[in-house]
Amino acid sequence: MDVDLAIVGSGFGGALLAIIARQMGLSVALLERGVHPRFAIGESSTPLADFKLAAIADRFGLDWLRPFSKYGTWKATYPQIACGLKRGFSFFRHHPGHDFIPAPGNANALLVAASPDDLHADTHWFRADFDAHLVERAIAAGVAYLDHAEIHRVIHDVGWTIEAIRPEGEKRIRASFLIDATGDGQLLGRALDIKPVDSAHLRARSRALYSHFTGVERWGDLLTEMAGPAAIASHPFPCDAAALHQIIDNGWMWILRFDHGIASAGFSLHPDVHPIRPNESPEAEWQRLLGAHPLLARQFAKAETVRPFVRTGRLQRRLTQAAGADWAMLPHAAGFLDAWLSPGIAQTLFAVERLGKILADDWRSPRRAERLAAYGRSVLNELEWMDEITGTCFECFDRFEVMAPVSMLYFAAAHYCEERERAGKAPPDAAFLLADDPAYRQAASRLCQAAPRIAASDAARFAAEFRAAIAPYNLCGLGDPSRCNMYPFSTAS
Ligand SMILES: Cc1cc2nc3c(=O)[nH]c(=O)nc-3n(C[C@H](O)[C@H](O)[C@H](O)COP(=O)(O)OP(=O)(O)OC[C@H]3O[C@@H](n4cnc5c(N)ncnc54)[C@H](O)[C@@H]3O)c2cc1C
Repeated sequence: MDVDLAIVGSGFGGALLAIIARQMGLSVALLERGVHPRFAIGESSTPLADFKLAAIADRFGLDWLRPFSKYGTWKATYPQIACGLKRGFSFFRHHPGHDFIPAPGNANALLVAASPDDLHADTHWFRADFDAHLVERAIAAGVAYLDHAEIHRVIHDVGWTIEAIRPEGEKRIRASFLIDATGDGQLLGRALDIKPVDSAHLRARSRALYSHFTGVERWGDLLTEMAGPAAIASHPFPCDAAALHQIIDNGWMWILRFDHGIASAGFSLHPDVHPIRPNESPEAEWQRLLGAHPLLARQFAKAETVRPFVRTGRLQRRLTQAAGADWAMLPHAAGFLDAWLSPGIAQTLFAVERLGKILADDWRSPRRAERLAAYGRSVLNELEWMDEITGTCFECFDRFEVMAPVSMLYFAAAHYCEERERAGKAPPDAAFLLADDPAYRQAASRLCQAAPRIAASDAARFAAEFRAAIAPYNLCGLGDPSRCNMYPFSTAS
């Protein structure tokens, strides 16, 4: 098979790029080692992801894609493709052996709204359905889709030769350009022997244990049972319609609810403080962690897994190169940090749009290599930036009152970028989350360096320092102590 473009990996990132490339007349092969529908992690979308999805739909003439950019239009247009309602981010701080009890002034809780109402809300993507749908769209668009493809050789010469075994036999694909969309499969990192960043230089440290469940109680109901309606009265949105972050000592748990009764839940754990114990099964570890936190145990008392647990080693990785003259990696193939604050889908969509534009504008032009090099640098820079925020938040888990302002570095940047998008003022090829804004990065770096040493008793002063440092970017009063950690949706326009 001879094609212009080979894309390896048919997650939403690879499938979308394949569709975009077909739209501009390129011949495309999309290779997948598995088969759809299949489970995939990485489910919680954000407003920036929504903006990018809509922008991709508009730029590349994919009208059918646009409804996926909001909960209301998704449900109305694609009721058969499962998703969940995400109104924002919620955080609660737990202590081992103790029930979670809402503290005065929400000192152990934080809710940040991302949308004004359900119709305009973000979504949790049930990836089995969503990715399969995109692959169907790719096939309909004329993409040559090869699943069950076990790639055993990648040759980079004048163009690319990929050799794969499929159930019917050996397949050889020649392509002039290759996109690595394999995520954790890390095809090109291995094939081209690209140097990884020394793991000691990656600030975030976590491993994960996760599955999909039925029967997970709603956290808002448990809070109400425990402490009465006052426990949730100040919440700006239902705390379960969110990327729910349950923070424990040296770790946290995500809970994302889908409308069809399944919830995605997982622990992200410091690998040194919570090492995998010899002979402890993932199920036993899950129960032990829940058992240490009484209200979490109640939340999962009737829960049942609908698929086996996944237990990973350390999650963090980043390569030192993400693109070349005739190849590019999507962000998840170039690196990963953690699910904390859900950056992955949005960053992937930023990359898809940027690569799509390069293919559209400069497929045969001498500018292509230069633009690809800039793309690669941007992807790595974004990963480094998210590592700084994520790692610093993790280092502050023991001081919720310090962690809250640190997490605002993400929310302030996200909100600022959303306002730019809303006003149509985002610079072309703007990086994800202000990663390319030196003034914001420098201010944030100073705060990230200071945060691990700030005592809880000094948190109010640190929060004031935070507000002053990011004031020009803080368009919605983040960090305002009078809000008591509850931030309803607001927009400058
Ligand atoms: C534990 C965890 C939690 C996460 N939570 C979130 C979240 O809440 N929100 C968020 O935004 N992001 C999250 N992410 C990140 C998110 O998963 C990624 O950003 C997203 O999946 C990237 O999509 P993709 O299409 O690039 O790659 P993927 O979704 O990783 O898809 C890769 C595809 O390539 C295929 N493949 C792999 N290797 C090969 C090979 N050698 N040959 C052929 N095919 C191959 C795989 O089968 C798969 O279909 C999370 C990630 C992890 C690990």
